[in-house]
Amino acid sequence: MLDIKITKNTAPKAKPADESQLGFAKIFTDHMFLMDYAEGQGWHDPRIVPYAPFQMDPATVVFHYAQELFEGLKAYRTADNKIQLFRPECNGQRMQDSSDRMCIPTVPVDDFVQAVKALVEVEKDWVPHIDGASLYIRPFVIATDVGLGVHASKHYTFCIICAPSGAYYAEGIDPIRIYVEDEYIRAAPGLTGFTKCGGNYAASIKAGELAEQKGFAQVLWLDGVEKKYVEEVGSMNIMFKIDGKVYTAACTGTVLPGVTRRSCIELLKDWGYEVVEGPLAIANVMKAGHEGKLEEVFGTGTAAVISPVKELDWKGDKVFINNGVIGPVTQKLYDTMTGMQWGRIPDTKGWIVPVC
Ligand SMILES: *Cc1c(COP(=O)(O)O)cnc(C)c1O
Repeated sequence: MLDIKITKNTAPKAKPADESQLGFAKIFTDHMFLMDYAEGQGWHDPRIVPYAPFQMDPATVVFHYAQELFEGLKAYRTADNKIQLFRPECNGQRMQDSSDRMCIPTVPVDDFVQAVKALVEVEKDWVPHIDGASLYIRPFVIATDVGLGVHASKHYTFCIICAPSGAYYAEGIDPIRIYVEDEYIRAAPGLTGFTKCGGNYAASIKAGELAEQKGFAQVLWLDGVEKKYVEEVGSMNIMFKIDGKVYTAACTGTVLPGVTRRSCIELLKDWGYEVVEGPLAIANVMKAGHEGKLEEVFGTGTAAVISPVKELDWKGDKVFINNGVIGPVTQKLYDTMTGMQWGRIPDTKGWIVPVC
């Protein structure tokens, strides 16, 4: 149990006047959570303080060698004005897994959840009210040793910031076009694909930019060894419903183990679908598409929750899915996940954690 010291911001910002114009994580709330780590002392000094810039030495390790990681989750406001989280302990556990790979000291899962809850409670008035909008929560850990030697830092800062964010589908669910990337890769066995580290994103921006120039919303990454098997999309996992079964890549080190992915798999199994977690060749996906067996394709991730896909383009070969409209299973997952998150339907899975 952390003893969190709270210093209130005496000059709070005005809340956004029009929540429909929020966009994603463009403005931040009045406070942030901080906790420091020093070798020999461990994590110490947990506190909530006014949101403010960091002052750091230009030779701080994180700027040069990217020893850092992050998490992403949301707080939701229900119709009866309660504030709640969705499976925050999964994010806490994943942060530990990322930490281990990045040689960053772990934060206990209970402390992670306590810190998130404490900050959200302080910022409860910042949780948006309109349908589909939420408070995006960004925990992150950075290495703060000063010096350019390459080794694990002895000092770290754990910080959590919050950003009120608009409805992802402000104009209704719009299925996306996806470019199957056959030159660049995102991950390979032994690397950091399973962690939420900034370096993964830095390395993926180029392919994303090139795809965007060609009119695609996202890149579908193939495995880094043979470029043969589907892995995941930008910041989402991806699932394919082929001939009644749902396929998705297994989390064996190169794929980010999404909380949304895991929740969707549990729901699909509850509903009686067979879910296959394992290698799925892109050639077989395209073949299924041409044979009319590729029934639904969708991405899963905290930001969009569920993102239906209407087109895949692999080396110029194209398949179109479900006439460009969201499929029934995709829609049911979307309704169930968002229903629980915003408290519109009962939480039958024990996934909701109330804050206040
Ligand atoms: C965060 C992330 C996801 C989705 O994870 P969720 O826990 O569902 O939000 C998928 N892929 C990548 C690369 C990610 O960074």
